[in-house]
Amino acid sequence: MDYKDLANLIFPDVNEISYYEEKYPRRNLSDGAIVTRFAPSPTGFVHIGGLYQGLIARKLANQTGGVFFLRVEDTDQKREVEDGIIGIVNSLRDFGFEPDEGMVSEIEGKGNYGPYKQSQRKEIYQAYAKFLIEQGKAYPCFCSTEDVEEIRTKQENAKIRPGYYGVWAKCRNVTVEEAYQRIQNGEKYIIRFKSPGREDRKIKHHDVIKGNVDFPENDQDIVIIKADGLPTYHFAHAVDDHLMGTTHVIRGDEWLSSVPLHLQLFNELGFKAPKYAHIAPIMKNDNGNKRKLSKRKDPEAAVSYYAEEGIPSDAVKEYLLNIANSTFENWRRANPDKSMNDFELQLNKMSVSGALFDMVKLLDVSKIVISKMTAEEVYENSLEWAKKYDKELEELLQDKEYALKVFGIERGNKKPRKDISKWSDVKENISYMYDEEFEKDEAEYIYQVINDKESIEKILKLYIEKYYDENDDKQAWFDKIKELAGEMGYAKEVKEFKANPDMYKAHVGDVSTVLRIALTKRTNTPDMYEIMQVLGKGRIAKRFENAIR
Ligand code: GLU
Repeated sequence: MDYKDLANLIFPDVNEISYYEEKYPRRNLSDGAIVTRFAPSPTGFVHIGGLYQGLIARKLANQTGGVFFLRVEDTDQKREVEDGIIGIVNSLRDFGFEPDEGMVSEIEGKGNYGPYKQSQRKEIYQAYAKFLIEQGKAYPCFCSTEDVEEIRTKQENAKIRPGYYGVWAKCRNVTVEEAYQRIQNGEKYIIRFKSPGREDRKIKHHDVIKGNVDFPENDQDIVIIKADGLPTYHFAHAVDDHLMGTTHVIRGDEWLSSVPLHLQLFNELGFKAPKYAHIAPIMKNDNGNKRKLSKRKDPEAAVSYYAEEGIPSDAVKEYLLNIANSTFENWRRANPDKSMNDFELQLNKMSVSGALFDMVKLLDVSKIVISKMTAEEVYENSLEWAKKYDKELEELLQDKEYALKVFGIERGNKKPRKDISKWSDVKENISYMYDEEFEKDEAEYIYQVINDKESIEKILKLYIEKYYDENDDKQAWFDKIKELAGEMGYAKEVKEFKANPDMYKAHVGDVSTVLRIALTKRTNTPDMYEIMQVLGKGRIAKRFENAIR
């Protein structure tokens, strides 16, 4: 009786691995092409850090003419939730980095290297586990959870490194005959890897992001196939990334310490190991303490948060590129009009420790992204957001023609308005352009330098009766405000006022402010000329009357 008999007893019906090696041929790609993946577990929560990793992977595949695929890692069925996959698929779609291959729904995938959901690959893992057993590189382990716990307690008491290894690995020395017998007797078992490693030997490894790292060899006989017949993460990683032709494993750095085990698995399986790039997590400054963005504590850790707030996905992506490579900011400054897809991301320029997530900065990026949109794009995006999250705004936006005029104010020119950083800002930013909203607004008119009732009344009356002409261009319009200032005895030029501050009570700018406040109750608005053009003379007059009252 030999290993082969034991392997046949355990996995009688699986294919030879040659079957899979032929079924999934090496990919025919040009030199330097990066094949990489996003491999989340469908826990129902898409973390912004996962999206960040996915974005980096997607970009590198694009930059090198490679392949980016989505593999769903659902072997831990306790953690899995219903509809977890669709959330991931939709997030990637919403952020515009759909995979070339991989899952497209809960059960379906596209591409020649599937299935792309691990629970659908059970027999593949078993074929490779059988292959290891046949060579004596894996074995059935009959230890119960209690046995393993007992080993652990003994190790803790003796202050010895914990785990199933060396002399502690009870079942690695069970003979083939005994194992065969026990399985036939119906005893329960799992499959463990027989590690050839030694803890007192070091391996040197080069990580694409972290650089050179030294580790002790792995000597743990880790579980590769669990009692439910599914693989553990480690084993599935080796089998899948081999068969799927992954050249670069881009993943969170919580996996860095597993590299010795993973290299060993690749080696024992006879596979060429991929390159590894371990990404540091996104951090948050929590009252001076730097910690990981937490699913539990930080709403912004959830990808869904950005959609709810109405932060455009392009802004989030652009911000994530900022975090990924500090060179991005300079590149953006030098290339304000280029698509972020033109930026060459470099893995070896990623920060080794986690970058800080800064919401203020993200909103700044977002303002610029939105400022570059056309009125039509702003309209469509706001409306789409409003339909889901703000019925009142949806109502306001019903008159598309008018809304386009409002959004068109100071847009499409060299210095476009930058007052919107998220769609949830829109209502506040445009409400005064809607008479009903404006009348509902209970804010006071707070005048500034010119604030006596008489002067204000006179300015508003004179302006609408004598000076305002809808056909004026911007220059003529402004000249009229100067004339009005002159007529009222204020300085027509700010310069003149500054040169002779004692001669005047106020200047043309202060007159403008009176007009602006009477029109909008705000001191800060986009271009007033354009606002007046959109409102038209009748509505301006009415607002002035109300202001006087
Ligand atoms: N399912 C693993 C995780 O979500 C994937 C790690 C990897 O990319 O290999 O952490």
